[in-house]
Amino acid sequence: MSSELHFKSIADLSGLLENRQVSSVELTTAVIGRTKAVDARVRAFNSFDESGALAQAAASDARRGAGKARGPLDGIPVGLKDVIAVANQPLTASSRMLANFVSPYDATVTVRLKDAGAVLWGRLNCDEFAMGSSTENSAFGPTANPWDLSRVPGGSSGGSSAALAAGEAIATLGSDTGGSIRQPAALCGVVGLKPTYGLVSRYGLVAFASSLDQIGPFARTVEDAAIVLSTIAGHDPHDSTSFKAAVPDYRAELKQRRGPWRLGIPQEYFGAGLDPEVNAAVQRAIAFYEARGCTIKEVSLPHTQYCLDTYYIIATAEASSNLARFDGVRYGHRSKDAKDAVDLYFKSRSEGFGAEVKRRIILGTYVLSSGYYDAYYLRAQKVRTLIRQDFLNAYREVDALLTPTSPAPAFKLGEKSDPLALYLCDIYTIGVNLAGLPAVSVPCGFTGGGLPIGLQLIGQPFQEAELLAIARGYEEGHEWGQRHPVL
Ligand code: GLN
Repeated sequence: MSSELHFKSIADLSGLLENRQVSSVELTTAVIGRTKAVDARVRAFNSFDESGALAQAAASDARRGAGKARGPLDGIPVGLKDVIAVANQPLTASSRMLANFVSPYDATVTVRLKDAGAVLWGRLNCDEFAMGSSTENSAFGPTANPWDLSRVPGGSSGGSSAALAAGEAIATLGSDTGGSIRQPAALCGVVGLKPTYGLVSRYGLVAFASSLDQIGPFARTVEDAAIVLSTIAGHDPHDSTSFKAAVPDYRAELKQRRGPWRLGIPQEYFGAGLDPEVNAAVQRAIAFYEARGCTIKEVSLPHTQYCLDTYYIIATAEASSNLARFDGVRYGHRSKDAKDAVDLYFKSRSEGFGAEVKRRIILGTYVLSSGYYDAYYLRAQKVRTLIRQDFLNAYREVDALLTPTSPAPAFKLGEKSDPLALYLCDIYTIGVNLAGLPAVSVPCGFTGGGLPIGLQLIGQPFQEAELLAIARGYEEGHEWGQRHPVL
């Protein structure tokens, strides 16, 4: 266990806070100090409000002093991806379009974190409107991977993963539409959980592709991810897709569920393009589970080859519709030299959006246009059903699936200039979003060059308790998550 406060887990810190061995102001000051020491190099933050964070910390200490502490997150600094609304704070989606936008309201996850006493710390960088796999699409410049500053932290939630790995927050939130929590978690050596579609409210999340988007936690340990998930999950009348069901105490459930489990290995996830060191680490994880008495079974997800195409039709179609609201009239950037209304829309959107966002709006508009809708969008929806059915068929025989999270470890900043090369980073993560399933990435080793590798476990709908227990089963036998980058 690290002796530095900024590298400790929520579970450890909540104990120290409870026993008055540390105060939230001391902890928050340590995290702020760490951020100031390293963020010029990591560039995980778009902005932060130091005095606001210290005021929240002081309020937490006062509550605790009065015997009114609210639970394990009370007084813990938690960073939010800059697509999650916090009232009276900037909300940029890392876009010029929203560069000067201040949110008038809180997202539901923000309300729940505030109610739990968390200290909300800063706005974390990401790819513009969460479109990308490296944070290089941020209008404000890329975030660096704390393990090797010349490399990407993954994306789109790269600020969330990098800040956590670098000790600039104790936990963070990201959003995952096609892998944006799990892939950066893998590349930065932290835990990242994408919940079942509908478990966590999307109210107050800047929408990218509404049928795929889910908010979830980044954390140092599986137990910490369980703590955050219990706080943010649950029905919300503001989000009509949020599921009406009681949310278990995921942390308590971890202790109840001990396996052994039946784990499926989808053969389609171990083919060409998989880095040999990543494969070797995942094979060792499979052997570990087997040695612990788990049943390992090869399974097939036969429609896997259509995931990427299906995703890039559905996600861009939804994005083109969601991003229509940024018209220079109501939100964000407005062009200064427009002649008339049409010119205002045209110039505001031309100036406000970056290249990748424009590419997706154009592609999405095309697949939805009359004459092409049936051939592309409607057909993609049908294939999506087949992809989901593949997973549900596999779950007749196994409790969860085990795969690599990302086909390769972190690549160099600037290395992938072709959009398709970046789209391929999500080859193992997008099927999960199309099927609406929960999945977690857990650290499972390092390359010879010292870069983190992630193991992905994919669970059954709304079975996060079991999924996290399986992840914890691996984590208990390994110490990968306790290593920290030297900065
Ligand atoms: N990299 C994928 C994309 O660019 C996924 C992004 C995400 O999950 N937000 O669409």
